[in-house]
Amino acid sequence: MSMLESYAAGRWFRATDEGAPLRDATTGEEVARISSTGLDVGAMVEHARSVGGPALRDLTFHERSALIKELAKHLTAHKDEFYELSTRTGATRRDSAVDIDGGFGTLFSVASKGTREMPADTVYLDGGLEQLGRAGQFVGQHVYTTRPGVAVQINAFNFPVWGMLEKLAPAFIAGVPSIVKPASQTAYLTELVVRRIIESGILPEGTLQLLSGSASGLLDALTVQDSVAFTGSAHTAGILRSHQNVLHGGVQLGVEADSLNCSVLGPDVTADDPEFDLFVKGVVTEMTVKAGQKCTAIRRTIVPAAIADEVVEAIGARLSSTTVGNPANPDVRMGALASVDQRDEVRKAIASLQASSDIVWGNPDSAELVDADFAVGAFLAPVLLRAREGAVEPHDVEPFGPVSTVISYETVDEAIALAARGKGSLVGSLVTHDPSVARDVTLGLAPWHGRILVLDRAAAPESTGHGSPLPMLVHGGPGRAGGGEELGGVRGILHHMQRTALQGSPDMLTAITGRWTKGAQRRVEEVHPFRKSLAELRIGDTVQSASRRVTLEDIEHFAEFTGDTFYAHTDEAAAQKNELFGGIVAHGYLVVSLAAGLFVQPDPGPVLANFGVDNLRFLTPVKVDDEISVLLTVKQLSPRRSADYGEVRWDAVVSNADGEPVATYDVLTLVAKEQPQY
Ligand code: NAP
Repeated sequence: MSMLESYAAGRWFRATDEGAPLRDATTGEEVARISSTGLDVGAMVEHARSVGGPALRDLTFHERSALIKELAKHLTAHKDEFYELSTRTGATRRDSAVDIDGGFGTLFSVASKGTREMPADTVYLDGGLEQLGRAGQFVGQHVYTTRPGVAVQINAFNFPVWGMLEKLAPAFIAGVPSIVKPASQTAYLTELVVRRIIESGILPEGTLQLLSGSASGLLDALTVQDSVAFTGSAHTAGILRSHQNVLHGGVQLGVEADSLNCSVLGPDVTADDPEFDLFVKGVVTEMTVKAGQKCTAIRRTIVPAAIADEVVEAIGARLSSTTVGNPANPDVRMGALASVDQRDEVRKAIASLQASSDIVWGNPDSAELVDADFAVGAFLAPVLLRAREGAVEPHDVEPFGPVSTVISYETVDEAIALAARGKGSLVGSLVTHDPSVARDVTLGLAPWHGRILVLDRAAAPESTGHGSPLPMLVHGGPGRAGGGEELGGVRGILHHMQRTALQGSPDMLTAITGRWTKGAQRRVEEVHPFRKSLAELRIGDTVQSASRRVTLEDIEHFAEFTGDTFYAHTDEAAAQKNELFGGIVAHGYLVVSLAAGLFVQPDPGPVLANFGVDNLRFLTPVKVDDEISVLLTVKQLSPRRSADYGEVRWDAVVSNADGEPVATYDVLTLVAKEQPQY
């Protein structure tokens, strides 16, 4: 049997002791052994700090994102062998898709966010500029920079691929090297994926290391710029929380722990509504995907008392067509749990639940299996319980398997109170077609949840379901769920970075952030900036336009031409009565259009297109015969890696003859990297 290896300090390490056996969930045969005896975890941390960290910090957000995208493509090409090995964890093809394709999809998505929503730089700006002094020469700006530390990622056994990748990608794009520690039970699949990553050479050395086996001593080596992202049981989370380096050493700890997620059926839903079927289907899906070994699965099925019998019957009917057995058999809907030990844990949890709930469907001690042996595999058929009046255990005990408990409620307030008894969950769902129920229940549930799915017939055809964390939405929950937060697009990347409030002059902030700051110097040269390629443009390059008088004819022409005959532009008497105008004023869009006419350099050249404006504000009305002029300044340059052009953000200020700004906005253009040859 092969011993799993760790990838540590630039080489593969194999422990020389016997290690612990890891068994096939279906057959009980040994798949591999695992041990980290003799592994120098201190050297791993040092390698990440001295080799991986500097290599990553040399790259921009865009360059790191491009590597993650390349990695996603590379791993997708190896999908088949991951699927094959995944079967040994008890996963059906459907389960493996959630883990494997879900993991690769997360890489693509996080990479895309890093490219589209972050700058081609290593510093990220948070929020707008704060003017701190009257003259505008002392300003404040929040920025994020990369922590020169290590991101340790400790994962649960249920998602050996997704669990690793959803943590790795944000840390990587943030510029922080990772040490990945998968749960032992399914570490053979993580090891195979890491092996393919390392072989590919796509990620710079030191940016990803793998610890197979016990993490003993790892936290001892961490210091103030390091972080630990943990997914697993509340018990282990408690051990990590009390580590001295977390308590006193400044090591950041993020926790995704167990969670008693609920799904609430709205009081408006009858058994004839499509929402009834959606609800039942959702509960059964969450009970059976990954054999219920999902941190997001529906453990508490909260339904109106009046309809509870019908719900129980409908869930039972659906469960009765769920085939359980060998996950490699295509006729099987639900495979095995990850290990016999895990199955025994779930049986214990069911026994605890029975103190206040009755089993209404299934039997934890027997099951009809397809193509598998109950005596050797980690099988457990789905079990549905129904809570008795005042039940405590369903709000307290997490059966980490194909188990859910139906709990009934009389009023919406009671449903909200029941949901809150989970003490904080990753995800809750509400199935209703009544907008006022949707608002009341959702606002009641939201403080207790990291994510809420509101499902009705309109959303259902496109819904990704209750249990799927999505890379663009946050994953994590308050209280019992651990209080951590991951993913959520760029948010997940920023967790690895330090937010700092910068104070200084606009010129200093421009130099530090790489983005032109209001109040900083503007450079007006003979060459119009529209004649410059992306390579030639500099932050601060400015056009000071000539001025133009806005006549009544201009305004009337624009009104007639566009059909925008709003009274403020066409009816002097009516416009005079409006205190904001005091007479006819120019359309805001006319001002912006005239401004373009003032700053543009019309000849074919490096400026390829205008693709929009951001932050447009009309500040002062432009009256008949007012003179306007424009200052247009290069604010930010963002070359695209995979194109021969990039984006240029220009700061635009349109002013009147008194120098008052009448409109401000950012103009967005695409500009060729090199001068085009016409
Ligand atoms: P676990 O026993 O707590 O193990 C989780 C991870 O912690 C494993 O990698 C484990 O390694 C490691 N570990 C254990 N003791 C440790 C220690 N003293 N120091 C450092 N690392 C240590 O949890 P599990 O049984 O794998 O996972 C099931 C639980 O995870 C369930 O409660 C479930 O709700 C929760 N979960 C939560 C989420 C979420 O996103 N919130 C996702 C999935 C699962 P070894 O395997 O080598 O012991």
